[in-house]
Amino acid sequence: EDATKVYSLPFGDVVALDKVCISVIPGEFIAIMGPSGSGKSTLLNLIGSLDVPTSGDIYIDGRNTRTLSDDELTELRRDRIGFIFQQFNLIPLLTVLENVEYPMILKSRQAVKGSSRAHDLLMRIGLTEQMLAHKPKELSGGQQQRVAIARALINDPAILLCDEPTGNLDQATGRIIMDLLLEVNRRGKTIIMVTHDADIAAYASRTITIVDGKVA
Ligand code: ATP
Ligand code: MG
Repeated sequence: EDATKVYSLPFGDVVALDKVCISVIPGEFIAIMGPSGSGKSTLLNLIGSLDVPTSGDIYIDGRNTRTLSDDELTELRRDRIGFIFQQFNLIPLLTVLENVEYPMILKSRQAVKGSSRAHDLLMRIGLTEQMLAHKPKELSGGQQQRVAIARALINDPAILLCDEPTGNLDQATGRIIMDLLLEVNRRGKTIIMVTHDADIAAYASRTITIVDGKVA
């Protein structure tokens, strides 16, 4: 609601988002499109509470995120929201299985090594048994993005935020990843995805276009 983000830089202020109002219904699959620099990633970061708006408010599950304590914000980011990025952002020193288990460990604060949930999720998402012990860099881009999707889903979040999830993949692999996300959406997750590819946006049920920090 009226979400505004101003970045202060040495040479002046950048208004990255200017009074943006959008609402997303549970279960929707939203594509956010717009030119480079229009504020798409900024908007996604505000929705995910990775950053706070300069003015305006963000409501998740009807709760104004400004009113939440640090603990409640941590819980929101960890349990209600999953993130998927263009660069996959897997932890290089951990194996594939450990990457997916990690958010679960953060949640339960205890070792869940060898948990069947991480294993099952990775199998369902199309990895092989033999890949689980590999480090991310030993996998292809498409395989790494599958691991990132499994990691995003491990705590069973209601909302998936995806910033250019196919941006580093070839077209065919991108379609496979999109089919996976579509299936995840059909099983009930809300998806908000940034893309500047119209073919990728076509997977969504609604497109919101941002131009110069405003909803067009
Ligand atoms: P792209 O399609 O290239 O990823 P985008 O639509 O995601 O672009 P943003 O990354 O949201 O755009 O950036 C919006 C504006 O805010 C740009 O002018 C950018 O330079 C500026 N900006 C983004 N992040 C920061 C930051 N951390 N500090 C300062 N300025 C920033
Ligand atoms: Mg961006």
